[in-house]
Amino acid sequence: MELETARNEVIAAGKRLAANGLIIGSSGNLSVREGDRVVVTPSGMALDAVQPEDLAVIDMDGNWLTGQRKPTSEVQLHLAIYQHSPEACAITHTHAVGSTAVSCTCSVLPPIHYTNLYLGGAVHVAKYATYGSKQLAENVVTALAKGTSAALMANHGSIAYGNTMAQACERLELLEWLCDVYRACIPLGQPRVLTPEELTDVMRMYRSDRYASGPQQAN
Ligand SMILES: [Zn+2]
Repeated sequence: MELETARNEVIAAGKRLAANGLIIGSSGNLSVREGDRVVVTPSGMALDAVQPEDLAVIDMDGNWLTGQRKPTSEVQLHLAIYQHSPEACAITHTHAVGSTAVSCTCSVLPPIHYTNLYLGGAVHVAKYATYGSKQLAENVVTALAKGTSAALMANHGSIAYGNTMAQACERLELLEWLCDVYRACIPLGQPRVLTPEELTDVMRMYRSDRYASGPQQAN
């Protein structure tokens, strides 16, 4: 089957994110880019039940090339991110509870924990637009252009990209964890945001040999 590795990566990611509670049923969508072809999840299907033949293949102009099931309604969103970042080879998008809650109440997720830097810093909330619209795709790219590999989408959910599907999943899971920490802080009081100096120190530590591979949740 064409693009077999990419298909398997998308299917594994659907199962992983569903098992971790980030995907419920058919909410969210995933893709992997290989050259000028993109494998995307189908519309209206539970993402942990998708089979290789259910996935659609589109080109970078959005033309639906193969697959019996209609591609996700967020094709424009995925393509806009691939065009925005040449490093993006995989995209994960969900309506997970923590990130969606923050997207409904905030304009930015500030760096209250040092692992936020793994996403590039403060994660911005893209302005609201109707799902599946070109405007939503543009708004998300605008939020990502502030220098992060993940964004929140107002009154909608979260999205991340990576140069592998594993990385796109890790980033989405980290964003969800950061949102959960943030909303756990609110009943206790306004969380303290790390200062630029503190973030610079973290970056210095990242760059040292010991942390050369980047921050991990376990550190
Ligand atoms: Zn969505």
